[in-house]
Amino acid sequence: MPIGTQGSVKAIEPRELVEIGAQIILGNTYHLYLRPGMDVMEAAGGLHRFAGWKKPLLTDSGGYQVFSLTDLRTIEEEGVTFRSHLDGSEHLFTPESVVRMQRQLGSDIMMVFDECAPFPCDVAYAQRSNAMTVRWAARCREEFTRTTHLYGYTQTLFGIVQGSVYKEIREQSVRDLVAMDFDGYALGGLAVGESDEVMYEITDFCEAMLPATKPRYLMGVGKPENLLESIARGMDMFDCVLPTRNGRNAALFTRTGELNMRNLSTKFDFSPVDPECSCYTCKNFSRGYLRHLFQVKEILGLQLATIHNLFFYLQLMREARQAILEQRFQSWKNATLEQLQSKVVAS
Ligand SMILES: [Zn+2]
Repeated sequence: MPIGTQGSVKAIEPRELVEIGAQIILGNTYHLYLRPGMDVMEAAGGLHRFAGWKKPLLTDSGGYQVFSLTDLRTIEEEGVTFRSHLDGSEHLFTPESVVRMQRQLGSDIMMVFDECAPFPCDVAYAQRSNAMTVRWAARCREEFTRTTHLYGYTQTLFGIVQGSVYKEIREQSVRDLVAMDFDGYALGGLAVGESDEVMYEITDFCEAMLPATKPRYLMGVGKPENLLESIARGMDMFDCVLPTRNGRNAALFTRTGELNMRNLSTKFDFSPVDPECSCYTCKNFSRGYLRHLFQVKEILGLQLATIHNLFFYLQLMREARQAILEQRFQSWKNATLEQLQSKVVAS
């Protein structure tokens, strides 16, 4: 899922997102709550109409942003009181208000309000935090049942498994959430600083207990190799700022590793960013031209880099999906990983 924090995936138009095959994008409740505000969202008829995006939309609960305002927030059973990073004004998010806001946004997939525990965190903190997250999930579930959609189409609600790196807490979290019967399940609190090995171990552990018929969403992951390893472990959905953010920093993903367009080596290089890629950028422009655009800070550089990086990620996912359907995922994954790690170009 490309990330559209402020109701816009940075440096790419919605029609281009459709062209490169994006099926769903993500919006951030916290940011959209502060600006333009939920009253504007509801008056506009929801984020789909406001942003001109006709395909599916997932919104987060705002929890991640609110909790990252470490010095500006107070966590209580009722919810989280925080000060806006924009003007210092005080606000309260509760599990109920977060569900109602996502009704106003009209997202197809809504997320429960959870605490993404910091890493590292001790077992007692993780225990307390997860117990509250589970109680908040129940309140979100109840509010979701009590309310209805505002714009004539149904919405779904996903639960978020927490528990840091502690298997016994993760197990409790999965059990409690599955009993609440959500439409899908996300693994939260991963890719927050732990090693890839630990992330894979926790993913494996949780996956085994999640219902096979519901989507599994690994939040905030990750690099291409992380996605392939996580798909191998049964994950279905991902969101990450890497393709868009790195693209705007001139770092482009290729099948043989990352390539920075600011490298001197690209100055006289008139070959495509990735000869194996069939995106608009690679079909029409060279590394040398992209380097030039970044050098002179032309907006087109950001746009072409974003198109390529998102296409690269989406193409990787399309190939993974096809390989799964044809029951050759393992061999495809191994070959692709080998290729991705064959020639990492220093940035
Ligand atoms: Zn490309």
